[in-house]
Amino acid sequence: MDLVIDLLRESAINVVQALTYMLIPAVVFLGLGWHFKGRDFLPDLRSALPETGLTLKILVFNALFAGPVLAVVITALHSWLVTNDLVLFRPESWASLPTVLVLFLAVFLADFFSYWRHRLDHSALLWPAHAVHHSDTHVTWITTNRWHPINLLTVHGLVGSAILMMGFPAYAVIFNGMLRGYYGYFIHADLPFTFGRWGKYIVSPAMHRWHHSAEEKAFDKNFAEIFCLFDRMFGTFYLPGPCDGPLGVADDMQPTLKSQMSYPLRPSAYARLVRRAPTSEETAA
Ligand SMILES: [Zn+2]
Ligand SMILES: [Zn+2]
Repeated sequence: MDLVIDLLRESAINVVQALTYMLIPAVVFLGLGWHFKGRDFLPDLRSALPETGLTLKILVFNALFAGPVLAVVITALHSWLVTNDLVLFRPESWASLPTVLVLFLAVFLADFFSYWRHRLDHSALLWPAHAVHHSDTHVTWITTNRWHPINLLTVHGLVGSAILMMGFPAYAVIFNGMLRGYYGYFIHADLPFTFGRWGKYIVSPAMHRWHHSAEEKAFDKNFAEIFCLFDRMFGTFYLPGPCDGPLGVADDMQPTLKSQMSYPLRPSAYARLVRRAPTSEETAA
């Protein structure tokens, strides 16, 4: 009984922490939207509300149920890496380098790992879980919190393990996690920023919006989170300008928590060998 109470308390703390973590971004992105979107701000905000509500339900579901399980699985995975001596470098190995360089390398390498993790998420096997993130038809900063638990396992299990294996000191790991978290909010924000010529180097909100586009020409493009280098190196960079077209997927998911969470458990979700764009009726639904 005590264990159940402890787990419930832990889950309640997770929910409060997850929601608290979003307070500052909420104020910042509502302010930026108000300032830069002008008269489109309120109508766009209103039309995004149903998807925002669903994302919040997914967030609370993950904090209550998936988070504690994932924490155990990922901790076990990391312990296994450490006990089997699979950590390639020690924090001391980085001590001779300037702090700024260590921070840059941690972010840069994490972006490389994250790029390939994201390409893997777009494979036929992992797409049904990743499609939950892409199912948002009104992407806003809050979409950063829309993940299926299986996808959270690839995000934190694969990329987290790769970072652990690099043996970065704690300060660099924390810095990378915070930057990636807040920058993730920024690139999902419904803001008309392409960054001009800097958009070839740093991921902009427009670039990531193309990643969420329902148009076939943008499928499997723009996997990076911070630097554009890996998309440009591996031929997946796509930024023709602002992305104003429809967003979302053609996958057979309803905008409900149950449908989204159960989607990767349905064998039919894996029948898709070629991704197709949603029809205009599906986009309007
Ligand atoms: Zn994706
Ligand atoms: Zn995204």
